[in-house]
Amino acid sequence: MVSSAGPRTFDAVTVSTMFVTPAMIRVRFGGSGLEEFESTGVPDERLRLFFGTAAERVVRSYTVRAFDPQGPFLDVDFAVHDGGIAAKWALGAKPGDRLEVSEARGWYKPPVDSRWQLLVADMTGLPALTRAIEQLPAGARAFVIASVPNHADEQTVPTQGAVSYQWLHTDRQEPGRVELASTVTPLSDAVRACRLPVGPGYVWAATEASEARSIRKYFHRERSWGPDRFEIKGYWRRDKEQWQQRYTQVQQHIDAIREQAIADGKSGKELTQVVDSALEQVGL
Ligand SMILES: Cc1cc2nc3c(=O)[nH]c(=O)nc-3n(C[C@H](O)[C@H](O)[C@H](O)COP(=O)(O)OP(=O)(O)OC[C@H]3O[C@@H](n4cnc5c(N)ncnc54)[C@H](O)[C@@H]3O)c2cc1C
Repeated sequence: MVSSAGPRTFDAVTVSTMFVTPAMIRVRFGGSGLEEFESTGVPDERLRLFFGTAAERVVRSYTVRAFDPQGPFLDVDFAVHDGGIAAKWALGAKPGDRLEVSEARGWYKPPVDSRWQLLVADMTGLPALTRAIEQLPAGARAFVIASVPNHADEQTVPTQGAVSYQWLHTDRQEPGRVELASTVTPLSDAVRACRLPVGPGYVWAATEASEARSIRKYFHRERSWGPDRFEIKGYWRRDKEQWQQRYTQVQQHIDAIREQAIADGKSGKELTQVVDSALEQVGL
C-alpha cells in the first residue's frame, strides 16, 4: 500500500505486457504492493491509475480486466490511441515499471428480474464488457453491440451465457465521417436500430461521451426507462482538449445549473440528465 491520506492506493509493478488484439495492450501488474488490493468482482470496476510525479500527478480511469489474489496479478487492458499519457505509457511499458493504482469500484448491476441484457462498448468499454460476459450465469441472455477498429480487434470470451454479438468497424467509416466525429454516433444508431426483446431488461454501455449521452437519452428520455435499468457511461471524450477549452467558458453557468438541481433534490442519473441537457444547450 502506498498512501495513508486520501483514498487508498497500491504500488503495482509491471510483470508483462501483451497485445490482446492489435489495438489493445494488456499490462499485467504484480508485486507485494498489490497483496492488500481487493477486487469487488463487479465487472466494470474502475481503477484510478496515477501517472507522473507527486507534484504533477495525472489521473486516468481504467478497468480491472482480471484480478488473481494468488499472484497477486492485476490485468489492465489499454486501448491504443494517438496522444494520451496513459496510452503512451502502456505502449512503452516493460517489466519492472511501476504505477500507483487506486481501490476499485464498479456500477454494473442488472436488476434481479432482468430477462436479458444489452451490453454496448467501444474499445475502452470492452475490458468491462468481456468480463461481464465471462461472469454471466448459465443461460443468461445478452446482446452485445461493440465498435472496434476492425475485425482483428473483435474479442469473444468463454461464457455460460447465451450471447449474440454485433460488431461495428470504425476503420471502415467512409472518408469524411471522421471530420464530423463529434456528431457521428454509430453505436447509438445501432442501439436505436436494435429490436430489443420484450420483458424487463438491463442496458450497460461504456463508450465515447457523445455516444453515451445519445444512448442515455434514448433509454431515459425517449423510452422512459427507470434509472435502475441502465448504466450508461462516457469513458472518454473525443477532441478532449477543444471540449475542455469550451467548457471553461461555460463552467460557471453549468455549475449553477448543477447546484440548483442538487438543491431540488436531484442526484445520480437524474442529475446527470440535467447536466447533459445543459451541456447540450450550450453545444457541448
Ligand atoms: C470508468 C472508466 C473505465 C475505463 N476503462 C478503460 C479501460 O479499461 N481501457 C481503456 O483503454 N480505457 C478505459 N477508459 C477510458 C480512458 O480512461 C480514456 O480513454 C482516457 O482518456 C485515456 O487517457 P490517455 O492519457 O491515454 O488520453 P488523454 O490524455 O485523456 O487524451 C489524449 C487525447 O486522446 C483522445 N482519446 C482519449 N481516449 C481515447 C480513445 N480511447 N480513443 C481515441 N482517442 C482517445 C482524447 O480525446 C485526447 O484528444 C475508462 C474510462 C472510465 C471513465
